[in-house]
Amino acid sequence: MEYGKNKLTIEEMYSTLKEGKDAGHSHYFKGVPCKHGHLSPRFVSNSACVECNRIAGRKAYVKKPRKPRKVISKEERAEKQRRYYLKNKEKLKLHKQKYYIKNKERILRKHREWLKNNKEREREREYKRYWKDPEKAIARSKKYYKEHREEILVKKREYRKKNKLWIRMMNREYYLKKKKEREEQSKK
Ligand SMILES: [Zn+2]
Repeated sequence: MEYGKNKLTIEEMYSTLKEGKDAGHSHYFKGVPCKHGHLSPRFVSNSACVECNRIAGRKAYVKKPRKPRKVISKEERAEKQRRYYLKNKEKLKLHKQKYYIKNKERILRKHREWLKNNKEREREREYKRYWKDPEKAIARSKKYYKEHREEILVKKREYRKKNKLWIRMMNREYYLKKKKEREEQSKK
């Protein structure tokens, strides 16, 4: 191991600060452990233990705070997204359509699976709750609807708006399925 720009080995170092300094060395080696137990050379400049210095440097490096992310408000972000959307509207639409066409089967299957899983879980929970006290459950859902009517309607509207494409796809699926059934019925 070599130390400093003169590439001193421990054997080449002087054992006192004064001798090292006089010789113009960057390091000296006392041969005695530092207070943290490192048997390591010291700097002539400040008599600090090299190993201690290395550890302190590493800690400082780890502790150095990361550059904080630019904080933008919710409104700003929304505005940014809106502008991006407007600018790329046609492109995004086309992209989305292409994506749906290409992945239709997979998307529909996934969506159906998700609905099924969630419905089942939800239903199970509802079922348990219901049979604990049916009258109370009915009263509760009635009360909830009464109190949240507006909210529920708004949410429904929002859902429909957000999932227009979905709903259209699902309706189309349903329509085709029914049509097929009807055709098979008429064949009989
Ligand atoms: Zn040390």
